[in-house]
Formats: sequence, structure tokens, C-alpha cells
Amino acid sequence: MPRLVMKFGGTSVADLERIKNAAQKVKQEVENGFEVIVIVSAMSGKTNEMVGWVQETSPLYDAREYDAIVSSGENVTAGLMALTLQEMDIPARSWQGWQVPLKTTSAHGAARIEEIPTDNLDAKFGEGMKVAVVAGFQGIAVDGRITTLGRGGSDTTAVAFAAAFSAARCDIYTDVDGIYTTDPRVVPNAAKLKKISYEEMLELASLGAKVLQTRSVELAMRFKVPLRVLSSFEADISTNAGTLVCDEEEIMENNVVNGVAFVRDEAKMTLVSVADRPGIAAAIFGPLADAGINVDMIVQNISEEGRTDMTFSCPVDQVLRAEKALNGAKESGEINYHGLVSDKDVAKVSVVGIGMRSHVGVAKQMFDVLAREGVNIKVITTSEIKISVLVDRKYMELAVRALYDEFELEHAT
Ligand code: ASP
Ligand code: MG
Repeated sequence: MPRLVMKFGGTSVADLERIKNAAQKVKQEVENGFEVIVIVSAMSGKTNEMVGWVQETSPLYDAREYDAIVSSGENVTAGLMALTLQEMDIPARSWQGWQVPLKTTSAHGAARIEEIPTDNLDAKFGEGMKVAVVAGFQGIAVDGRITTLGRGGSDTTAVAFAAAFSAARCDIYTDVDGIYTTDPRVVPNAAKLKKISYEEMLELASLGAKVLQTRSVELAMRFKVPLRVLSSFEADISTNAGTLVCDEEEIMENNVVNGVAFVRDEAKMTLVSVADRPGIAAAIFGPLADAGINVDMIVQNISEEGRTDMTFSCPVDQVLRAEKALNGAKESGEINYHGLVSDKDVAKVSVVGIGMRSHVGVAKQMFDVLAREGVNIKVITTSEIKISVLVDRKYMELAVRALYDEFELEHAT
């Protein structure tokens, strides 16, 4: 029998009524002839609440206990979903991560999936079970402790199951009806895409679009899992298309630019006048990596008389830690700089599109628009399919709208 993975996010299982609504969709897919693996998130708000309890109890908490606590929200929804399906006469049972078992590394709070043996679920499907409801977000480390996959990790659970069980598709049911060319809260008439390539989705996810956990897109791309993002609030699944995230070959005509993404809370840090010598970048970014700073853009300025400025960006809530790491490296003599300037009022705006590979001039067009709007660009980085700029946070929305218009994203499909 063909297999299907259906994942329901927190807002789609927020209460018993919504769980029933989700179960109706599962029922339709069972009637369509699928054996279904349902992956559930915790009811919306529950994980946040538990994270708060952990922090309040123990600010420097033991990550193993954090995982033991915050993984529990998914256990509740998995059991409730199984019961709801049973009430509809569908043979279903719940599985916690460790029961599958979904084996992970022991990096608590951000564990990576190592293996999902299929025999336990396969045996039950063989006995006539139609739906396996699996608690998302959680797994088990080799020492037997419960792990979690990082916030938003149920998406990754879902894609990993789709790959392990060779599912025909992985459907991610959520509270939006697909992937938009930009955030509809900034551009109210933003267009919804019918299809988007894995690569573009990966860029958009890591550039601030929060619909899918970045790692789930990485995994889908690696195992070529067709991934569909769709709303759980539409009643009829046969007409609810959402957005398909797929191989670029399956997309006939690529737009040059397919999306504008942004990250609001960025910071720009500059080390003023560091010695320009071999190994200086390693000496600066080593301590930052050890301190767990997510360095994003990096620019080294031209050097004068053997000294240079080094600029990088990171999330604004990591500035204090970054300053501490750099000051520490200065005190221990690893690096030497004259000043450290932190600008906490910047945002990153990016345009993404596979078509950039074969189109020149996108960068110029982007810079022209920003100039016309009077938005000063502070740092630029590019990859094959994206261009990102740092701008003052107060101009972020303006920049997003201007780029949206310039690249005619209201016509993107
Ligand atoms: N419940 C977890 C979270 O809120 C995992 C998920 O929903 O994907 O991050
Ligand atoms: Mg999510």
C-alpha cells in the first residue's frame, strides 16, 4: 500500500475540535488508499509554556531534563489523535519517539536524527493498523535519554519518516495555506506560490520565513521527498493544493526572483583595526564559534598599514555573548583590536530565486531600488541564488515592499 506522511502543527491540534478536524483529513487519506503516518506537534503554546517553566526553575538548566519536559507536549496530542481516529473506527495507535525508535545524537535540545528503523511500524501496518500517530520533535539518544530536535522540529520528524518509509509525499498541515513570495503581514497582497524548488525554500527558510524548519527542507532535498505545505482549515483535501516544494526540474518556468525574505533582529558588529595577518579570521571566528554565536555575513575591509576592520552580523540576542567572547580573546592575546562597535538596529533583507543563476543584473536592480528609496546598505552578501543586505531596521518594511514591487512578485506562481 502507498504510504503518506501527514504532519499537523500546533495550531492545527490546538484543541479537541481541531484534532477532530485534522483526524477527518487523515480519514480521507485512508479512504484514498494510503497507510498514513501522522506526525503531531504539541498543542499551540504548550511548548513555550514548558520552556518558560524550565527557565524559571533553573536558568542554567540540565539540557537532558529540558528535553524530558518539553517533549511531553507531543505525547498528549499523539494519544488524543489516536483516540480520535479510533472513535472514527480507524485502526490507529500512538508512538512516542523512543518507541519507534527514532534514534538521535545526544545533542540535547538540538539533536540530529541518526536512524529510524521501520520494522516496528511495518509490523503493525502488516497487522491491519491504518494510521501510526507519532509524536514529533522527540527521539532517543544512545544512552537511553529522551532528546528533542530543536524548535519547530516536528517538520523534520515528518520529512525523516517520509524518507524512511518511502512515502509518496509529506504533507505539512499548518495555519497558512502555502508558501508566499514574502510575509503577508508586510505585503498584504503577497502571492502564494504553487511550486517552489528545494533550494529556494531552503534559502527562504534560513533567511527568516518561518513556515518550515530549515533542517526539514535540507532533509527533503537530500532524499527528494515531495513536500506540500497546506492549510488545515480548509475542509476539502481534494481541492486544497497548498504549495509543493519539489525538485527544480519539476518547475517549468522559473521566476528570476521567487521570494523576498527578512530577519528583523540582526546586529552588525565591527572589530576596528585588527592586525591583517594570516590566521586573523580564524583567531576571531574561532572563539565566536566556541561561544555558539551564529555568525552570518562577514566582511573584511581593505587593509591600511597592515591593519583592517572586520565586520560580521549575528542575531541581536547574541551580541552580549559575542562581545564577551571577543573581549576574552583580546585579553588572552589571541587577537588585538582597537575598538568593538555593535549596531543592534539592523535587519537583513534578501531576494531569492533560482533564475538568478542564468540572469545577470539582479544585484544591480536590487541596489537601484534601495537607492531610489533612500535605504542605505550596510553589508552585502550573495550566493548563487540569493542576495542579502543589511539595512537599518526602521527601513526593513519599506525595503521589502519596494523589492516586492520591483521584481513583480505579485505575478509569481
Ligand atoms: N512543539 C515543538 C515546538 O513548538 C515542535 C514543533 O511544533 O515543531 O517547537
Ligand atoms: Mg512549526
